[in-house]
Amino acid sequence: MAELRRIAVFCGSNIGARPEYVAAAKALGRALADRGIGLVYGGSNVGLMAVLADEMLDELGDVIGVIPRTLVEREVANTQLSDLRIVDSMHERKALMAELADGFIALPGGIGTLEEFFETWTWAQLGMHQKPCGLLNAAGYFDSLLTFLDRTVEEKFVRGIHRQMVIVEDAAGALLDRFAAYEAPQVVKWVNAGTI
Ligand code: AMP
Repeated sequence: MAELRRIAVFCGSNIGARPEYVAAAKALGRALADRGIGLVYGGSNVGLMAVLADEMLDELGDVIGVIPRTLVEREVANTQLSDLRIVDSMHERKALMAELADGFIALPGGIGTLEEFFETWTWAQLGMHQKPCGLLNAAGYFDSLLTFLDRTVEEKFVRGIHRQMVIVEDAAGALLDRFAAYEAPQVVKWVNAGTI
């Protein structure tokens, strides 16, 4: 069983095309606050990131923002946060977010969201951490990505057990329940170790 003190959430710096994405960010903020789980996020005041953080703050949840100095200078930092940590690079930001969090969730988002989520999953498959990684699949946003991920297994680039590490739910409460019950698999990464 994983102890969940804080969860890092990666999500769009835009709100996306559908109201379901905003609703999902709010629902996740409420679900985290209800369970007394803190939020670690990119510290911004734009897009779904702002929707999520504002909902957490309204519900008196604990929020830590981690933002690189260059983004603060571009005035996208959320100045409402009591705990805003300013770092020198995107790499430092991801390292600090990973250290502070006991699990990682991606909401709908773009390139930044996908890159952050895939990095934490990569670290998980290498056994560099044992923390749960999941997608909140609002309005089926990730469906075609999940189909592609199945293909990575069929084509023997990814082990089925590593594919299954990604917890997918369309409701925030169900996702957090599965995070709480998560146990990391103990297997080596390579599908055919020793063969070409
Ligand atoms: P994207 O999915 O491309 O909109 O990027 C969102 C992710 O990248 C977030 O989880 C942030 O960590 C980072 N990011 C992108 N844009 C910003 C921004 N304006 N302020 C803070 N973080 C951002």
